[in-house]
Amino acid sequence: MSYVEKVLKNLKKQNPGEPEFHQAATEILTTLAPVVDKHPEYEKAALLERFVEPERVIMFRVPWTDDKGKVHVNKGYRVQFNSAIGPYKGGLRFHPSVNLSIIKFLGLEQILKNSLTGLPIGGGKGGSDFDPKGKSDREVMAFCQSFMTELYRHIGADTDVPAGDIGVGGREIGYLFGQYKRIRDEHVGVLTGRGLSYGGSLVRTEATGYGLVYITEEALKQRGDSFKGKTVVISGSGNVAIYACEKAQSLGAKVVAMYDSNGYVYDPAGINLAVVKDIKEVRRGRIKEYAEKVSGATYTEGCKGIWTIPCDIALPCATQNEIDAASAEILVKNGVKYVAEGANMPSTLQAIEVFQKSGVVFLPAKAANAGGVATSALEMAQSSGRMFWSFKEVDAKLKDIMVNIYHNIDKAAKDYGYEGNYVMGANIAGFVKVAEAMMAHGIV
Ligand code: NDP
Repeated sequence: MSYVEKVLKNLKKQNPGEPEFHQAATEILTTLAPVVDKHPEYEKAALLERFVEPERVIMFRVPWTDDKGKVHVNKGYRVQFNSAIGPYKGGLRFHPSVNLSIIKFLGLEQILKNSLTGLPIGGGKGGSDFDPKGKSDREVMAFCQSFMTELYRHIGADTDVPAGDIGVGGREIGYLFGQYKRIRDEHVGVLTGRGLSYGGSLVRTEATGYGLVYITEEALKQRGDSFKGKTVVISGSGNVAIYACEKAQSLGAKVVAMYDSNGYVYDPAGINLAVVKDIKEVRRGRIKEYAEKVSGATYTEGCKGIWTIPCDIALPCATQNEIDAASAEILVKNGVKYVAEGANMPSTLQAIEVFQKSGVVFLPAKAANAGGVATSALEMAQSSGRMFWSFKEVDAKLKDIMVNIYHNIDKAAKDYGYEGNYVMGANIAGFVKVAEAMMAHGIV
């Protein structure tokens, strides 16, 4: 049994009932075999065993009171996975599906993603099974304050810097920051994705979606192609999806479909993004309303059908495992040429196999959606330097980072004999730096 197989077997035994964590670890570790084979010293130092074990897992109770006076208790998590190359960095997810397995898969992915940005940030992730949907602003505030009343003692601008993720946007970050500042009496860059009036960075809101399109644009460019005239399907209609749509449209693509967790809209004339923004960002409504407002658009209950819509480029931007092998087969049959992951782990292992076997250019999440965390790191730099960069400056840096990531993963894939396999390229390129730092630190 190889070193990688031994570590994976043991990981599954030691962490039962964590399917998402097993899935992410399997995807990552199996692609690292060529690196590990080149470095026998890694096995001696139990490097992979340490790499897949979080440095610290914090789990806590979050009690809060709703508008009717009823007391609720949610679960809170922060997984401080790896700080070899910088302070823990990664978002907070508030969604009823959140559990330890999901937070650990996201944290593990985050280590390599953050390394790929080229910036000094380690990997972490956190969240809660709290559902902000349908709650009043006061209820969300009460929850965020209670969550931070425990979390504050574990984080810090040089220790661990959380940000947003599913269910955690500008409103939640504001409430979390307000409570941190109140308890600690410190106005520091302890969270990113902050509002512009209290230390946030321009472009952070747009960063993940824009970055996703920048890296895809570079992949297209390398093949003598561009977004112009392409038909694009985007899943989700949250932060990542909206700004991926905005940038793709600005480059001349036609985005024809988007969804939320209830169903999808198809607009053959091209999505009117102002309508989506009004529904989702302003009124926190449902995507269904789009078809009521825009003539020619249709709404279909359920999400999976979105992948039956023919497109040149698919950008999954909602959640994990939204594309399974069957959906991947349909996308391929309908002529998809590029799949770039805006969400974390939106494709199952089997779906990835389908894309790769069919010659689809597949850009995995840890490379393709790294623009968000990269811009968070730029926000940290501005906070500690007490500086404020213009939109143009931050956007240019973001684009530069995404283009670099593309070339780094492309090169790593080629160097190890897997040209065009960006899953291998991203995992290897991200891992090499973390491994080097971990080896330098000794057995810790
Ligand atoms: P948002 O909460 O803003 O939006 C999430 C979108 O996905 C919503 O449209 C939501 O629909 C939909 N969605 C969530 N869960 C499901 C589900 N189980 N089935 C179907 N649809 C679902 O989150 P973000 O846009 O911030 O995040 C989207 C993805 O991108 C996540 O995987 C996240 O980890 C990843 N990501 C985000 C980054 C960021 O900067 N925000 C950075 C890097 C990755 P509904 O409104 O009905 O819940």
